[in-house]
Amino acid sequence: MKWQGRRQSSNIDDRRGQGGPRMGAGGFNPMLLGPLLKILFSKTGMILIGVFLVGSFLLGYNPLSLLSGLVGGGEQGFASDTSYAPTAEEEEMASFSATVLADTEDVWNSQLDNYREPTLVLFTGSVSSACGSASSATGPFYCPADEKLYLDLSFFQDMETKLSAGGDFAYAYVIAHEVGHHIQKIMGITDEVHSLRGQVSEKEYNQNSVKLELQADFLAGVWAHHSQQSAGMMESGDLEEALNAANAIGDDRLQKQSSGRVVPDSFTHGTSAQRMKWFKKGFETGDLRLGDTFSAPDL
Ligand SMILES: [Zn+2]
Repeated sequence: MKWQGRRQSSNIDDRRGQGGPRMGAGGFNPMLLGPLLKILFSKTGMILIGVFLVGSFLLGYNPLSLLSGLVGGGEQGFASDTSYAPTAEEEEMASFSATVLADTEDVWNSQLDNYREPTLVLFTGSVSSACGSASSATGPFYCPADEKLYLDLSFFQDMETKLSAGGDFAYAYVIAHEVGHHIQKIMGITDEVHSLRGQVSEKEYNQNSVKLELQADFLAGVWAHHSQQSAGMMESGDLEEALNAANAIGDDRLQKQSSGRVVPDSFTHGTSAQRMKWFKKGFETGDLRLGDTFSAPDL
């Protein structure tokens, strides 16, 4: 991918090294005090404290580190990230992400009237969003409530080492997929699907979230199509990288890897074949009107 030297987005909220809602050297997060006290003084809280204390006595672990892990969602407990110094490689990936985001802005500003550009939050460890706090283990996500994308750059490394789905265009596809969720928010599709929760069976709700995910893949493809027509960042092999990533992060493949079984009812993102199909459809046509995964007879 020829991305170097291109415009980088200024819609970046760089929170790397801040470590999210954690008790660090910066002090205790007062927002956590209320809920924490509630938990501590509830019956379950008392039992938990008992378990922690007995456990720490028997096993010799520090109950506070466990507690802070629960509260902060991070693995580093009390450790603060103030010493965080990104490597040259991480800095390059940050520049890369800002460049891809800028390109999605160019494409979507040209495709949609009054496009609202989303913010990309870069974080390390854990982060708090209007959708709650999350750790890096969640993977990249989009929060419709604050219209921000959340990304820990270490996910790209995981894609390469754990999923064999590395490559810059594969990473660009991930960012474009999250931007796709932003497009869905703007178009009111996200709210429509979320309003079904509790109204339809879990199975049906699940099918709708799969369609939402496949549509985000389609939108990532539409971005790649138009990006290619204007900026021309793609090089040979790039499309394969994105398809390989779509293939690697399909629910069937991930499930097989973790449990050895495939349970279609629990899919939330679609199968590898479905993800590749919709990304490709968006990429080949670049036509927003063809992305109605909701009324597609077969996905
Ligand atoms: Zn998604």
